[in-house]
Amino acid sequence: MKSKIANFSAGPAAIPQEVLQEVKDELLNYKNIGSSIIEISHRDKTFVDIANQAKTDVIDLLNVPNDYEVIFLQGGATLQFSMIPLNFSYLGKVANFAEIGSWSSKAIKEASNICKVNVCTSSKDNNFTKIENFDEWNIVQDTSIVHYCKNETIQGVRVNHDIETNYPLFVDMSSCLFSETIDIKKYDFIYACAQKNFGPSGITLIILKRELLEKSNKDLPNILKYDAHAKENSMLNTPNTFGWYVAGKIFSWYKKNGGVKEMEKNSIKKTNHLYQIIDNSDFYINPVFQEQRSICNVVFTLQNNELESKFLSGAEENGLFYLKGHRSVGGMRASIYNPLEFEHVEHLGQYMIDFEKKYG
Ligand SMILES: *Cc1c(COP(=O)(O)O)cnc(C)c1O
Repeated sequence: MKSKIANFSAGPAAIPQEVLQEVKDELLNYKNIGSSIIEISHRDKTFVDIANQAKTDVIDLLNVPNDYEVIFLQGGATLQFSMIPLNFSYLGKVANFAEIGSWSSKAIKEASNICKVNVCTSSKDNNFTKIENFDEWNIVQDTSIVHYCKNETIQGVRVNHDIETNYPLFVDMSSCLFSETIDIKKYDFIYACAQKNFGPSGITLIILKRELLEKSNKDLPNILKYDAHAKENSMLNTPNTFGWYVAGKIFSWYKKNGGVKEMEKNSIKKTNHLYQIIDNSDFYINPVFQEQRSICNVVFTLQNNELESKFLSGAEENGLFYLKGHRSVGGMRASIYNPLEFEHVEHLGQYMIDFEKKYG
């Protein structure tokens, strides 16, 4: 089954067509319980089973070790920008934040309202096109956490190697979780909002080392405490049941389709297809340092930027949608998350080649 358009949206983003079909089929009467899944209690066994299965599948897909906790929250990745410093900044005098794109800048801004922040590296001066080598990061001593964003969704740049530090390592993986294989043990705290790679907005996945929970700030309202959410198995209050349910379906879709290893292989194949077309032309430009290019978000501009609106409207006429870059940076962006099929990417590539022939 193929989707109607090629959906390059950055988030909320494409969901596998089979999953949407299943949701549609089940929506009125979930597995013959006589009601919809979104009109029963989150404490009902039917929903609790869905919730537990989703959690088990996350653990399975990402090989989450036993000493880690998996939590489903609301409030998007943005709530994490405040919740992390609230829970952990008291551990040290300063929190270290890497600034490698728009999302890390936002995280820094929010954290600065709560604690003292040391920006340990910034690629603002090169317009977020090249991240400084980790050796050069200026991580101060007596620090609570080190925070970075693994994949900058807006600039299309990624941290492509491990960050080794003795301090607790916190990582925003909102736009790359499930698109690349990771060794969870190398991180202390991972978070990702769902609407890029695992469903509708309104769910945020947290994977954190359990020992961090014991050290977290207890002097907060319950709703802001990771510890309280973990103790209640992410049901401290009513969760986003619909989001959780759809996320669960996407996790099982991942399992059926080869797991994260296969997703990574496909992400590299799909994005390389476009990077090659860009690199083989003087017409398209991708400004990102080659080795740090995202395997989820391909950004590009046209040498002649007056042609951009023509490029975008022509793309839509060809069934290629949501290619406009983020409003803060302009240009074009093809977000290529796991559900997007290779043939859609090939279709975009062909459109780019044809457009260049016509206007280049
Ligand atoms: C989308 C995104 C966010 C923000 O997510 P919200 O759910 O809108 O709060 C944060 N970080 C990254 C890397 C993102 O891609």
